[in-house]
Amino acid sequence: MTSDFQPSLDRYSRQILFSEIGADGQRRLSESRALIIGCGALGSAQAESLARAGVGTLRFVDRDFVEFSNLQRQTMFTEQDAAERLPKAIACANHLSEINSDIVVEPEIADVNHSNIERLLENCDVVIDGTDNFATRYLINDACVKHNVNWIYGAAVGSYGVTMTIRPSATPCLRCIFPEAPPAASAPTCDTAGVIMPIINIVSAVQVSEALKLLTGKLTDLHNSLMQFDVWRNEWRRI
Ligand SMILES: [Zn+2]
Repeated sequence: MTSDFQPSLDRYSRQILFSEIGADGQRRLSESRALIIGCGALGSAQAESLARAGVGTLRFVDRDFVEFSNLQRQTMFTEQDAAERLPKAIACANHLSEINSDIVVEPEIADVNHSNIERLLENCDVVIDGTDNFATRYLINDACVKHNVNWIYGAAVGSYGVTMTIRPSATPCLRCIFPEAPPAASAPTCDTAGVIMPIINIVSAVQVSEALKLLTGKLTDLHNSLMQFDVWRNEWRRI
């Protein structure tokens, strides 16, 4: 180790070598703030990836507690978290601080609703969807459209997943694509139809890649589509 060893740059050396990010992109990531809504399967995967990538401030919000039935796919959490029934936001903050102590984590134990969404959005460069319901997604959509904040829709159930990046100034929003939410009772959920972990990894990987492109200003590299995947039926679609 030489005297000019910089642990923070060494940490990101492989990402800086990736020319699309580079040193300038890394600096931009370190100055960015992302809001992750939901710390379940998608949200905790997004949070871990963005923390490892060095996104400077991660704000995340979830009202639930870690349960043993989460451990099959929510790789952030441990049996200890479930035994203690820790709030997911707190367990997430604990693990992220161990993974990357350079970044600032802002956990919040809350239900996201009309009364807090605009405060949560404040000063955020991107919002990432880790929720499990359409009502919250429309709430995110409307607040992001109002304040011109980019957000990345994502959902997974069974072996199927979908994601889309919404830039209010440049792309259709969620309401343009789905004017009406599917009736809550008719839409399959992870509680009724189950879910397998690989689809979580795929959806969150695409969402995080899009977040890295947005935060480093590489807008021409965004996928500009509704991406759908089914890892069991082997279907991959871009609309
Ligand atoms: Zn719209």
